[in-house]
Amino acid sequence: MSSPSWGFERLLSRKLRARLVQLEAATHAHAQAEQIHAAVMENMAEGLYVVDRDGRLVLMNAAATRLLGWTEKDLVGRRMHDVVHHQRANGTPLPIEECELSSAYREGRAVHSHNDVFTHKDGSIVPVRCSAAPLTERDAAQGAVVVFHELSDEHAEREQARVKFRADAWTRAIRDALADDRLALYAQPIVPLEDGPPGEELLLRLIRRDGAVIAPGEFLPFAEKYGLVGELDRWVVTEAIRRAAGGRRVQLNLSANTVGDPQLLTLVAEQLRQTRATPSDVVFEITETALIHDIDAGAAFAHGLTDLGCELALDDFGTGFGSFTYLKRLPVSYLKIDIEFVRNLRSSNANQHLVRAIVNLAQGFGHETIAEGVEDEETLLMLREFGVDYAQGFHLGPPAPISRNRVPIAS
Ligand code: C2E
Ligand code: CA
Ligand code: CA
Repeated sequence: MSSPSWGFERLLSRKLRARLVQLEAATHAHAQAEQIHAAVMENMAEGLYVVDRDGRLVLMNAAATRLLGWTEKDLVGRRMHDVVHHQRANGTPLPIEECELSSAYREGRAVHSHNDVFTHKDGSIVPVRCSAAPLTERDAAQGAVVVFHELSDEHAEREQARVKFRADAWTRAIRDALADDRLALYAQPIVPLEDGPPGEELLLRLIRRDGAVIAPGEFLPFAEKYGLVGELDRWVVTEAIRRAAGGRRVQLNLSANTVGDPQLLTLVAEQLRQTRATPSDVVFEITETALIHDIDAGAAFAHGLTDLGCELALDDFGTGFGSFTYLKRLPVSYLKIDIEFVRNLRSSNANQHLVRAIVNLAQGFGHETIAEGVEDEETLLMLREFGVDYAQGFHLGPPAPISRNRVPIAS
């Protein structure tokens, strides 16, 4: 209410003025009470309901309806204990005499429970954290206000916050590693079992500021999800071609996001020209999963690489779904037999059949095979007997750090 003008106010009696001030305060208080009511009833995230001294519902807010399925109209005048609080978490009945929550309106006691359950309208159990505060008049309990929060919501929120925190931390760590040149390639030998040139697979590592070496399984999923993997792949390609220029035969991995990227072909061409590396010493490992997104783009990309004189290996062969499709359409030189088929080769008849079948298939198409994950001599002998061409694994040599190969760049 606006103040009366000064001239007018002088004419007012003191009593009338006092009354006007009172009225203004009351109007203000009323507006405020309405705001608070709306906030509690409509906007509050916690469920809230009020019961009378018999535990019968007087009012409940929108969040309580969202969490429990019941509307205020469904429950007004009904005992909340009978409808939403009559059972324990395991479904056994909870008699009112044993109900802590009801002591708020029965005995006028404040109650807090970190681990309670309510029953949803659909019969399901809703784990909650809740508090009940008694409403008293002249020291006698007149009812209670109950506020509650769904525990699974709380867990989900905490989990979401944790996931976001982890993603942000990894994104920062990857960006910093790129900026500070704290990436490294490890090399693992690829050994010919008959004849053929020895080679090595280059495997990416991130070096933390404290010197800890981080395996790609930890950071690549974040790099892929947050659009940083392209930059990592470009770094790997550049380093790998430099290493090839130093006289090594290298195999490098490309992520699914990069397969099909024509800009990468340009980078490969540029690096091959600048370093004068022998293109056939650079073998790109591509997984079936990377090709699954867009087989046409994948095939064009693969042909682009082989047109430059590089070679192609199908990584993790046999673990995807479309192996045969890719065999028919891609200019592949090698099939890499996944570790899953190699690990228990001696004891698993099924794996022996599968490895033999893959070798037959590869030979039929004129491709060579590389077995991954060879961890002992017996497996190695068996693979040789099956006609596998190359082997790789801890038994033959673990991935080891390489020193950077700074070959002179041709102009
Ligand atoms: P992958 O291409 O299948 O690489 C083989 C993985 O098997 C490597 O793990 C290697 O350290 C591990 N390994 C080698 N021999 C053995 C063995 O005898 N036994 C067992 N149990 N494991 C063996 P790593 O280095 O942790 O790499 C994991 C994956 O990360 C790779 O799987 C590849 O998919 C990806 N990756 C690695 N480096 C790069 C990279 O430069 N770029 C991209 N885009 N992906 C990479
Ligand atoms: Ca690989
Ligand atoms: Ca593999």
